[in-house]
Amino acid sequence: LIASLELVDQTYIMVKPDGVQRGLVGEIISRFEKKGFKLTGLKLFQCSKELAEEHYKDLKGKSFFPKLIDYITSGPVVCMAWEGVGVVASARKLIGATDPLQAEPGTIRGDLAVQTGRNIVHGSDSPENGKREIGLWFNEAELCQWNPAQAPWLR
Ligand code: ADP
Ligand code: MG
Repeated sequence: LIASLELVDQTYIMVKPDGVQRGLVGEIISRFEKKGFKLTGLKLFQCSKELAEEHYKDLKGKSFFPKLIDYITSGPVVCMAWEGVGVVASARKLIGATDPLQAEPGTIRGDLAVQTGRNIVHGSDSPENGKREIGLWFNEAELCQWNPAQAPWLR
């Protein structure tokens, strides 16, 4: 039990504005729920340009950066924090490749999207970034630490 507790990670998942506008919020949440990860934060939120730029700061030099910021701020997003053993890498697999045309069928992007610039969902790329991004998008009071002992299939 102690060994598995040490492996619990957190990831920041976000339904992007196109996912919200297309009515895919429930579908996307459902994939992570059914997989068996634990939801610890959830909100609908219109983000500022400053927050979008901080979130994507590693991409600041890319030619598509201004369009990416316009996209992410173009309407409300759904912010989520998920927890579990291996959740960061597993969520990336569930989401699929950045370019939805390259994403495998069965993945969220592979099933539901066609454009890199409108790829409906974000997932953190490392446990460090998972923690960083959850801290960026949520206040401490918005996160719930609920007890998985009452639901032993959730870790
Ligand atoms: P991922 O979201 O799969 O981790 P990246 O971190 O490389 O992908 O890029 C962040 C987001 O920036 C992508 O999800 C996508 O929305 C956008 N993006 C990445 N590359 C491009 C591109 N070549 N043209 C337009 N948008 C892009
Ligand atoms: Mg990324």
